[in-house]
Amino acid sequence: MGEECAEVVVRVNHPRLNRIFYYRIPEGMGKPHLGTRVTVPLGPRIVEGWIIGYSEPDPEITLREIAGITDIEPDFTEELLELAHWMAGYYLHFVGEILDKISPPRKPKRSIQVSSPAVSRMQSDEIVLTVEQQAALDKIKNALSCHEFSRFLLYGVTGSGKTEVYLRAAESALAAGCQVLYLVPEIALTPQINRIFQERFGEQVAVWHHRLAGREKYRTWEGIRTGELRVLIGPRSAVFAPFAELGLIIIDEEHDQAYKQQEKPYYHARQVALWRARYNRAAIILGSATPSLESYASAAWGRMKVLSIRKRPPGRNLPVVRVIDLRQEHVEERLSFLSEYLVEQIRLRLERKEQVILFLNRRGFAPLVYCSVCGDVIKCQNCSISLIYHKQTRDLRCHYCNAVSRLPRSCPSCGSTKKLRFLGVGIQRVEKEIDNLFPEARVARLDFDTTRKKGAFQRILGGFAKREADILLGTQMVAKGHDFPGVTLVGVLNADLSLNLPDFRSAERTFQILTQVSGRAGRGATPGEVVVQTLNPDHYSIRTACLGGEQFFYREEAHRRQFLGYPPFGDLIRVRLSGKDEQEVLNYADQLAKDMEHALESDQVVVLGPAPAPVLQVKGYYRYQVMLKGNCRRVRPKIHSCLDVYRQKNSVIINVEVDPFGF
Ligand code: ADP
Ligand code: ZN
Ligand code: ZN
Repeated sequence: MGEECAEVVVRVNHPRLNRIFYYRIPEGMGKPHLGTRVTVPLGPRIVEGWIIGYSEPDPEITLREIAGITDIEPDFTEELLELAHWMAGYYLHFVGEILDKISPPRKPKRSIQVSSPAVSRMQSDEIVLTVEQQAALDKIKNALSCHEFSRFLLYGVTGSGKTEVYLRAAESALAAGCQVLYLVPEIALTPQINRIFQERFGEQVAVWHHRLAGREKYRTWEGIRTGELRVLIGPRSAVFAPFAELGLIIIDEEHDQAYKQQEKPYYHARQVALWRARYNRAAIILGSATPSLESYASAAWGRMKVLSIRKRPPGRNLPVVRVIDLRQEHVEERLSFLSEYLVEQIRLRLERKEQVILFLNRRGFAPLVYCSVCGDVIKCQNCSISLIYHKQTRDLRCHYCNAVSRLPRSCPSCGSTKKLRFLGVGIQRVEKEIDNLFPEARVARLDFDTTRKKGAFQRILGGFAKREADILLGTQMVAKGHDFPGVTLVGVLNADLSLNLPDFRSAERTFQILTQVSGRAGRGATPGEVVVQTLNPDHYSIRTACLGGEQFFYREEAHRRQFLGYPPFGDLIRVRLSGKDEQEVLNYADQLAKDMEHALESDQVVVLGPAPAPVLQVKGYYRYQVMLKGNCRRVRPKIHSCLDVYRQKNSVIINVEVDPFGF
């Protein structure tokens, strides 16, 4: 009987080290728990890694010894280790890569005191739940008392008071001795939710996100692990917190694409949360006014219970929506993006001292700068996409790589020195026009460029809430979860922008964003109005978002996706190959597609491509992709071994996205 050896994954970011290494356990170390962080010799170096298993050593091989233990307390709970293995299988990554991404924050050097929070209880009796809210809550409470895995889709129109349902569900879970995880799509939304939760539940509530200071991060993680903290609020990464007694998970605005991590390992927080809820026999609530088709279908197939709230609380009616067909508008060139009707309505609200939100989902001043002689559009030299002109800084910016350049004096293509022209409308151009039309109005702008400084997002929104501005102009940032009673008019300047993206989710995105942004109107006593400008008034996503009948939207959308085999009716896996030598990348992509086809011949999986990525070149790397479509779940191992060959190559980088978002 030989002694056992430790299976270790090392924390070195290199595809060739993505395998298990075996080490002897030195005398006197005992048998560390799985998930313990250790240092091990690897070639000439000493590196960090984690013990993920024990096995009989191969007697033929002389093993080296573990060099040391970094921390007696393992980095991962049993649950999180299991989760990492599941994620590795599902998302086609190596378990070490997953552990590296979900590992806990470092212990600060100086010892810190974990203060035990005073549990204060506040009452919430001022709000009387509506019948629908109460019915939803009763079902959730019932599930909580059974301690069984249960899934709910809280399908409530915008402004229907979903937050109040979450609060009371959390109250029940806490009373039953459970911990609560509350996921929000964006860090920017955490302070407002945190405030509401702390008012009710005191200091047992904490916020988590990657921008917290190291000390704070560590303290929060520890608090959750030891159970001293009972409620955690945070964006998608909070889904990996080491809960000891998780009993309720809430995913607010579950349809939001921000829940999908857009870099390795490309996980979806909803999927991970569902896994954890099942593991912990917890209740999970997915809340939205515009559920993702995935969740909608899941409910239709009986996997989730639907809790629906069709009415807003008394005194807050849903806004009236008016669709403006831009094709019918007689507009001079200079005003092509503000219809007469909308301008009139804005004027009216300003006179009545009410507030207005204007929404345009495009940053910058003008999307394209082109030469009036040769017609060429100015593009980023690294990333084959057009540059966007920014007015304040008077420069051109690439929205992919962030490169900044000056507006050239002459056309880079033909050398003509005739004036370069702007085409299209970005949010800054709207701002300028609004300033011209309503010089007396106070205008605030909320977009990526105005919110880069810390605290800017809160300051702009806070100012608008305090009525320090009359008009709030913004990109999709204005659509999310805000409650401004002073707003009586919402204008959507171009509903078609998201519709024309080459993405199979573009109709769903359009439907969601229009419904969400419209939902910002009419949250106070004065009824609200929404004006939607579009070139496609008859498109099913725009019609249903504006005029109601969302069952029709979901039916139509499901029909189209089923026909084309898109999620949730089929799986997608995107494999992206990138490298500096275009021909080489293309050759590998060709070969990979052939290998896949061969391996998956007898399975219901179609191999598409290789095709150039929508943006071929980013930061000097050429990108080609191969897409797998069909019943990919059962053939994971085949796909995995196919990919492994290419992952070992030096000149290409392989990027695998399971259930990809954004095309
Ligand atoms: P949602 O998240 O569903 O869009 P919110 O949770 O932001 O909606 O609620 C909108 C507003 O309605 C909030 O100001 C909230 O305080 C209020 N509200 C919620 N429930 C009730 C109720 N039963 N009676 C009166 N007001 C309510
Ligand atoms: Zn030119
Ligand atoms: Zn670029």
